[in-house]
Amino acid sequence: DVIRSDEIQEARLGLPVVAEEQKIMEAIYDNPVVIIWGATGSGKTTQVPQFLFEAGYGTSDSPNPGMIGVTQPRRVAAVSMAKRVDDELGGLREKVAYQIRFDSSVSNKTAIKFMTDGILIREITNDFALLKYSIIVIDEAHERSANTDILIGMVSRIVDLRATMNKEDAKVRPLKLVIMSATLRVTDFLENPNLFRNGKPPLIQVEGRQFPVATHFSRRTQRDYVDEAFHKVCRGHKKLPPGGMLVFLTGQNEITSLAKRLKDALANTHGSHTGHKVRIAAGEAPLETEDIELGMSMSQYDQLEENDDDEEDVFDELDDKEFEVEDETPASSQVHILPLYSQLQTKDQLKVFEKPPENARLIVLATNVAETSLTIPGIRYVFDTGRAKDKRYDEQTGVQSFEVGWISKASASQRAGRAGRTGPGHCYRLYSSAVYERDFKEHAEPEILRIPVEGVILQLKSMDLQHVVNFPFPTPPDRQSLAKAEKLLCYLGALSPEGKITSIGRQLSHYPLSPRFSKMLTIGHQHECTPYTVALVAALATPNLFIPENQLGLAVPNQTEIYTNGDRLADEARTKLRSAYDHAHHLFSRKSSTSDALKALTALCAYAYAPSKDDFCKEMFLSPKSLHEASNLRSQLTTIVHNNNLTTLPSTLPLQLPAPSKIQISALQQFIAAAFIDQIAILASSSPIPPDLPRKPTRAIDVPYLPLFPIKTKRRADTDIIDVAVFIHPSSVLAHTAVKDLPTYIIYSRLQRGNPATIEGAKKPRTR
Ligand code: ADP
Ligand code: MG
Repeated sequence: DVIRSDEIQEARLGLPVVAEEQKIMEAIYDNPVVIIWGATGSGKTTQVPQFLFEAGYGTSDSPNPGMIGVTQPRRVAAVSMAKRVDDELGGLREKVAYQIRFDSSVSNKTAIKFMTDGILIREITNDFALLKYSIIVIDEAHERSANTDILIGMVSRIVDLRATMNKEDAKVRPLKLVIMSATLRVTDFLENPNLFRNGKPPLIQVEGRQFPVATHFSRRTQRDYVDEAFHKVCRGHKKLPPGGMLVFLTGQNEITSLAKRLKDALANTHGSHTGHKVRIAAGEAPLETEDIELGMSMSQYDQLEENDDDEEDVFDELDDKEFEVEDETPASSQVHILPLYSQLQTKDQLKVFEKPPENARLIVLATNVAETSLTIPGIRYVFDTGRAKDKRYDEQTGVQSFEVGWISKASASQRAGRAGRTGPGHCYRLYSSAVYERDFKEHAEPEILRIPVEGVILQLKSMDLQHVVNFPFPTPPDRQSLAKAEKLLCYLGALSPEGKITSIGRQLSHYPLSPRFSKMLTIGHQHECTPYTVALVAALATPNLFIPENQLGLAVPNQTEIYTNGDRLADEARTKLRSAYDHAHHLFSRKSSTSDALKALTALCAYAYAPSKDDFCKEMFLSPKSLHEASNLRSQLTTIVHNNNLTTLPSTLPLQLPAPSKIQISALQQFIAAAFIDQIAILASSSPIPPDLPRKPTRAIDVPYLPLFPIKTKRRADTDIIDVAVFIHPSSVLAHTAVKDLPTYIIYSRLQRGNPATIEGAKKPRTR
């Protein structure tokens, strides 16, 4: 029996989920799949596993002896929720455990197991029917992480499987599935018959207990939102009545630097303004105006900022209230600043749940971990920068990265809701309502649509799934691209011809990249090439490193224009510019006169040496923005490669590399060939069926090549060569090669539709 302390018991009774215990348990009893929808903080994560435990789930001599498995998208949540439930169940130690990537407290006594969704996916690989479990709870489903979506699809099938197994052998107990969500985001796939074949599962709604939250938009949207957050929090701390503050930022670095600034600023002011609170508030009015003006001068960064008079600046409206309140309830002068992000140690994360020191205002600086996974007690003010670090995927380049971008309207509302848990609150949005309306999507796209399809397939195949096209995705990716991606994985050796994952495939699945690039990284250590391979992938994955020729203004003006167009470069200047441009490109292709990839690599490596990046880019006709991005990507990849090869690599790779040796250069070219193995083309005249060309081409860019894996149709004798051929892009190093010197085979990374006018009536893909 469960014995809970009085304090815990009392706290539990206040939770909306506890009031619904009976309804929830009856639904679970009657249905194989149940969906629970309740606002963040209503008690889903901490209470539902306890209901199940008390109903006998996870107990060896009950009808449902298997464990209660609870999945979380984040490690923080898995660990801290296990600890919390363990505390609440007091005295039953060892019954509650967690498992995350490198850490586990699971034993044979475990009844409730919290884990990240990645862990459960791995377990399915080893135990396809999940026989260890009697019920799986998929939590935070509204986040729609790729793993969550995959699990929902997978476990819904396992529920069916276990029902069948149960019919054949009553000793195998059926499996139950509970999906929990903070929003209605999960209902869009409820009707999906492919997913829930036995009909729509019941949706249990838990009444939220939410106090009103007043939302305040900023008049202006500042680009430097960390700086903006600093000013707003400082002013807010001085002016606002007691109550915890929660600031949403995007990552660890921002959090650490803002924490330091706030500590410096607020520790010094403390004491100086006690005793004349009213005056201080008044005395700060000019500061307010100053800030607004500053905002206006900086607003050049925002294309659109209509001045909407209805919008109140953050604290204007509060000033009056503040005067009243402060006389009786002075704002606390001390601050208690705590960081909260995924990589932080659990014991430090748990500090946000402790009572802050007497008289000190709690200020939590958090990533979106605090958006729905964790509920921090006592928060009354939320400062929302409106940004989050998100996984992005560029389909064209195959690069997956983390980028700071706007959150969705749904997220913004979740963030605001954090202020209304214990009483009425305020949410200060550090962006204007115009930006909110214009740039915020209703919901973030499910992650599964934002990652490489090849990656999703690789994930499913690593669970030994045969027919990926039939997989019941809550939101399915495009079928055709699934089939195409599967083919590519075969070419890369990640799948066997029968469609089974290979050991190479398992290796590739550890990189958050398009499998082509993962392939390069996994083989790229040969001949001590790792630092070059990393740079090469970064260079290949970033488009437009070089400023294209046509943007230089080099075009020769025609006769009339010489006199009429003053902008045109004078002859002499043009000649100079042209020779500087050619010289720069010549330098970059010194190592290989036939490879655009190595040219890009050389440019990126040279950039690392440049004392002034801007001057270098200008001199060498490189795009500063792209080089900067490539350089960032290079560091990110270094970390990833290091994490995947912990024992064999130093933690930092030098950015300034010596020139690669001849052997290394040819090794690098082989890596590229391995990654783009399906994109090789042969000189048409050297192909087994050489085409009849009407005219012999005189320029390299008019010479047809034939892809070995045809792009569209199979080439028949009567097919027009133009329909199946590819051509060298004019920006390629090969474009100026003499026709007789062109290589027999080329490998291309990208095809681009050419200008049909070049060759009459034909669409002409060009290679790069
Ligand atoms: P939900 O999953 O519905 O968002 P939770 O079960 O996570 O809700 O939280 C329910 C309540 O328990 C919240 O009000 C939260 O403040 C409280 N709580 C959760 N974890 C802790 C903890 N470690 N310490 C103190 N209170 C906690
Ligand atoms: Mg929860």
